[in-house]
Amino acid sequence: MENNSIANNIDEDDDTSLLVIIVDCNIYSWGNREKLLKEGTLNDEKKTYITFSKFLEHLMVFINAYLMLNQENQLSVLCSKIGKSEFLFPNHTANDPLYSEKTIQEQILHKLQNMDLNNINETEERNISSSFSAAMSMALCYISRIKKATPTIRPRIVVFNVSPDVSAQYISVMNCIFSAQKQSIPVDCCILSQTDSTFLQQASHLTNGVYLKPQNQQQLTQYLLSTFLIDTYSRKFLAYPTLKSVDYRASCFCHKKIVDIGFVCSVCLSIFCKYSSSCSTCGTKFSLKIELPKKTTTANNTTTVIGGGNQSATASTK
Ligand SMILES: [Zn+2]
Ligand SMILES: [Zn+2]
Repeated sequence: MENNSIANNIDEDDDTSLLVIIVDCNIYSWGNREKLLKEGTLNDEKKTYITFSKFLEHLMVFINAYLMLNQENQLSVLCSKIGKSEFLFPNHTANDPLYSEKTIQEQILHKLQNMDLNNINETEERNISSSFSAAMSMALCYISRIKKATPTIRPRIVVFNVSPDVSAQYISVMNCIFSAQKQSIPVDCCILSQTDSTFLQQASHLTNGVYLKPQNQQQLTQYLLSTFLIDTYSRKFLAYPTLKSVDYRASCFCHKKIVDIGFVCSVCLSIFCKYSSSCSTCGTKFSLKIELPKKTTTANNTTTVIGGGNQSATASTK
């Protein structure tokens, strides 16, 4: 019987989800957007940009809809700020009488409105990037903690991004992505800026998540409800937006810049933009002889030149 086989596959009691939302709260990105919107100097593509407060309204509709889907659904909201990430919900001060009476929505908004902006040093140019990798690690840790208590729960992560990628975070972000992939946690990405995020493209591609760049941000709620609300099981039956091209380029470990062609350490797989006689990550010493490509021996330490995936050449030590 067809009905029986479907019933076997779905355990009605096990469709509770754990949704972890990571919100990019970089005040420079949002502040800049607000300033441009006030000046009215945005081009047609960016005309549909929304302010942070409008974004929060859309987000709250989404959160409420998610919580109404199943009363056992669990939620966590994280914000990645400049140099720091923290939980907005659930928060550790839940026993605080200030919080116990409040709804989830009020708790999240209260946290955001009382964000500590004093420790941001404006003059420090390097320090204006969001700590996305930290937020991602916290999300993964939180998920594994909840999974221990409720093994049947279906976790997923939704990332709202406005700031550009920080190539210095490449290694830690990739480690998080691989960790999510291994635990089959889909990473859904909602990009609220015009530029694509290489990190998040790779994250959603590797974890079977959704990568979406809403064309009209003023209708964000509609995008959220129709794309990010649906649980991982139901997604199998729906036609989901797919990514046509993913930017797979990696950052070099030495300068943290994105490279098309580079050198890879054969021992630890570190990527470098320039040839050096030893690997700065694991300390392996190379004696590369590019002029003698035929001489392949049984040595352990080889350096592989990568480029575009298939046109690799190998040179080995003696
Ligand atoms: Zn480099
Ligand atoms: Zn190495």
